Amino acid sequence: MSKRVITISIFLCVLPALTLGLVIAYFLSDAYQSTRYQGGLSSFLAAVAALLGIYALALVISISAVRKDSRRLLGEAQEHANLNKELMSQRRELQTEVDFLSTMREALITVTQDLDAETVLQKVLELTGDIVRAKGREEIGIFKCDEDGKPVPLAYRKEGATLFGRELEKVYIDKHNVAECAEYKRLFRLADEDQLDIALPLTADREIVGVLKVVVPLEGHREEKHALAELLEQNLQNFANTVALAIKTPDLYTRTITDGLTGLYSKRHFLSQIPTYFEMARRHNEPLSMLMVDIDHFKQVNDTHGHQTGDIVLKAVAGVLKKASRLSDSVYRYGGEEMGILMPESSVREAEMTAERLRKKVESKKMTGSDKEEVRVTISIGVATFMPGMTGFQQIVEHADKALYEAKRTGRNKVCVFGAPIPQQVETSA
Ligand code: GH3
Ligand code: MG
Ligand code: MG
Repeated sequence: MSKRVITISIFLCVLPALTLGLVIAYFLSDAYQSTRYQGGLSSFLAAVAALLGIYALALVISISAVRKDSRRLLGEAQEHANLNKELMSQRRELQTEVDFLSTMREALITVTQDLDAETVLQKVLELTGDIVRAKGREEIGIFKCDEDGKPVPLAYRKEGATLFGRELEKVYIDKHNVAECAEYKRLFRLADEDQLDIALPLTADREIVGVLKVVVPLEGHREEKHALAELLEQNLQNFANTVALAIKTPDLYTRTITDGLTGLYSKRHFLSQIPTYFEMARRHNEPLSMLMVDIDHFKQVNDTHGHQTGDIVLKAVAGVLKKASRLSDSVYRYGGEEMGILMPESSVREAEMTAERLRKKVESKKMTGSDKEEVRVTISIGVATFMPGMTGFQQIVEHADKALYEAKRTGRNKVCVFGAPIPQQVETSA
């Protein structure tokens, strides 16, 4: 309250008190007692009227002063409110930035830790969800580009659940801006006011390693939705480098279970996995098949074109096997130029058909050696399957080996199934 208002308020209290005092003093005075003195009353009334006049004037002045003060105070309060609002919005922006930076930090720690690939992807998807702040309503996919640059889904997050490997076959994954993003190596955002549907290239060492796809609903007025979409796009672009690292850096677990040259699973991993597959097949009577693959006359490739070309051929054949087999199948480098494929849920007939498909693909594959010469190879494949009464996984491996031996013995570049009747030579009598 201003000094002026205080002074007037005091004055307003003093004046009535003064008037009241004067009235009391008059009634107690001799003038009142003596009826002879008539002039006393009129003088007294004039004094009271004068005081009341001053009082009324002071009242008017004070009311206008109070009104002026309250207008000023209201203006100041409005200014404070505006300032407060601005500070709050700045604080929110800073908080968003701090949240984003801490999310980035957490993501970097995750990708540099020796965790298995799925754990890293799971965490990265969760953190991407945090960035878009959609509380589980987001759809996020991480895709890895294969040798031909085509994006292959590694992990997908939908309705708060994350799917990997075989589970990805069961859901519909909308890939249309993902394919464009991988092909043109740039960001693709669909024109949609109500949701952000964006595919961002994941690049590491100036090379596109994958694509990050995000679909998230936008809320608020038109301008708010637009501003939010811009902010999320910016943050996702900054975050994409970290996601690229998650794809590019092979974790310790992957390094232990894969073969360095071909990228296939190692024999050690095969030996750790097959007992589980075997046990599942035995307990639940589920089919389990195995292919044993061997490159024909590989020694000749080395001898003719050199070991370096031999390595190129080995890698290329491994790539064909991996690409052409199902997601549920696992491809292992079993020995030097020998590869094994474990096929859970595949009957012997399905395994034989797959083997034939793989054989044809390798046969038609043209490769270029380190000497720039064109090289072609063929493979022989032995097929074996789980049979009731088997006591150990070694029996499946033995059967696949025997079938492979049979394929080699009977001409190479062919598929033989263990236990299948060998075509009899028809004896023609002269
Ligand atoms: P077959 O049709 O009977 O299988 O004949 P092959 O020549 O393929 O079989 P063999 O067992 O006589 O030779 C296999 C060759 O594979 C010998 C070895 O030098 C070569 N090899 C094994 N591992 C590697 C590798 O990592 N790189 C290269 N370049 N060669 C390898
Ligand atoms: Mg061989
Ligand atoms: Mg061999």
